[in-house]
Amino acid sequence: RKQIVKITTGSQALDELLGGGIETAALTEAFGEFRSGKTQLAHTLCVSTQLPISMHGGNGKVAYIDTEGTFRPDRIVPIAERFGMDAGAVLDNIIYARAYTYEHQYNLLLGLAAKMAEEPFRLLILDSVIALFRVDFTGRGELAERQQKLAQMLSRITKIAEEFNVAVYMTNQVIADPGGGVFITDPKKPAGGHVLAHASTVRMMLRKGKGEQRVAKIIDAPNLAEAEAVFQITPGGVTD
Ligand code: ADP
Ligand code: MG
Repeated sequence: RKQIVKITTGSQALDELLGGGIETAALTEAFGEFRSGKTQLAHTLCVSTQLPISMHGGNGKVAYIDTEGTFRPDRIVPIAERFGMDAGAVLDNIIYARAYTYEHQYNLLLGLAAKMAEEPFRLLILDSVIALFRVDFTGRGELAERQQKLAQMLSRITKIAEEFNVAVYMTNQVIADPGGGVFITDPKKPAGGHVLAHASTVRMMLRKGKGEQRVAKIIDAPNLAEAEAVFQITPGGVTD
């Protein structure tokens, strides 16, 4: 029987908001505007996942699917140092892939699943999970097909999370104008519609606070309060 692990975000306040951290065998989604900290949290998790369980880590490797080209290996170095880890070893345990189309993203997932069957992975990152779908299916008439393909991909991701006891951290964008018209009904609405909302185990919204402060808010979680947590982005990654 698999032991569920909760991986630290680097911030105690954020961990508490999440009920202990980013959970394995579950999908944690972060959505928010540009610079709200989604990718910085991904970088921090790349390191914290490799910490021993006794230090709130996952004692495992990391798979990183990057659709935006924003992963920075250089960022990993000070974060690893902050956690007292060897940066070179930490980088060696991050399997990185850049995806260019939604089909490419799907095929990368299949390849990673094969790797996970052989090596102990504890985290899968998709930054972002949806961007390529929004690029590859642009027309209004393509929305149904897009949602169908997105559902297919999310079902594959869920299967990977459960089969290999891996935490999934996936980022999402906010839609500025969901109606496509003049009236902006809810400018903070996450993309992906019901399909993504349904797939996410935990969904949080990130927003900018004062200076380097960021605020996370839990959205629609059945077993977590709709509370907020304040954290910071520092050279050493996410912290209180
Ligand atoms: P998102 O992915 O949500 O668009 P990011 O995770 O890329 O946003 O966050 C970018 C922000 O992170 C920057 O605006 C800056 O405030 C902060 N940041 C990035 N690198 C560093 C660093 N080395 N030290 C401190 N803060 C940083
Ligand atoms: Mg980003």
